Amino acid sequence: MNAIELSRVSVRYASGRLALEDIELSVRKGEICAVLGPNGAGKSTLVKVISGALPPQRGEVRILGEPLSRLDRREIAKRIALVPQTSEPAVGFSVREIVMMGRAPHQGAWMRASKHDEEAVERAIAACELESLAGRGVAELSGGEQQRVAIARALAQEAPVLLLDEATAHLDVRHFIALSELVCREVQERGLACLMVLHDLNAAAQYADRIALLKAGRLVAHGSIEEVMTYRRLKEVFEAELYVGVNELDNARYFLPVRPQLGPSPRRDG
Ligand code: ADP
Ligand code: MG
Repeated sequence: MNAIELSRVSVRYASGRLALEDIELSVRKGEICAVLGPNGAGKSTLVKVISGALPPQRGEVRILGEPLSRLDRREIAKRIALVPQTSEPAVGFSVREIVMMGRAPHQGAWMRASKHDEEAVERAIAACELESLAGRGVAELSGGEQQRVAIARALAQEAPVLLLDEATAHLDVRHFIALSELVCREVQERGLACLMVLHDLNAAAQYADRIALLKAGRLVAHGSIEEVMTYRRLKEVFEAELYVGVNELDNARYFLPVRPQLGPSPRRDG
């Protein structure tokens, strides 16, 4: 079953700019779809549309079969957890309080935390290795630490759809691996549907089941890593020379930017 389904979605900002045009895209349960594309391609706009923050002018978004336009904010928050590309750190709140905010859609009017709420928060804090920071003010943390808090909050929400907009961009390599593995496990074990916007082509090739390639608001390719992440296609979309290799450890593709004076990459895969 498709957990996320977009049919013919178009978005125009008030400025008149067409940010998404006729997007057809679906993500199944238990699947990670990486969204790649140059700056300004419409990746964050796509995430905003799927999260219900931005209604499309045309087309429809369905979440677990239900049109998004028929769900209220609370119902959306029960279904969709989002780590946005940018957010202001909430001054005056501790890490644990921020992660607990992920439980809000499950709580009543008085926001009383149940035993299950507490457990979900502690599990997310431990999974994101935030135990030693849990009592600290979130505004005092580094960019990478704040990203781990945002991911913990999203996981504590226990929603079946997870949207990550460059959520691992500021992590050091160890935390990048730990949190990417964590997302992978959650997707597999809990059957989440995950759409992640990435700039790191190598991370996309390692962790995604499918790739959606955006350019200038259009979905120019959608499919497996082998189908989409080719020398020719990436060069056309990013307007950059990339060496496309195959890692002997796991046969995954890897990508190296090539300095322009070196000319076209010698290794081409199609
Ligand atoms: P990406 O995340 O791929 O870098 P965005 O989705 O943020 O790109 O933006 C897509 C296009 O829409 C860009 O040209 C950007 O300038 C424009 N855009 C983004 N947000 C707004 C906004 N609030 N108002 C007007 N234009 C916007
Ligand atoms: Mg963006």
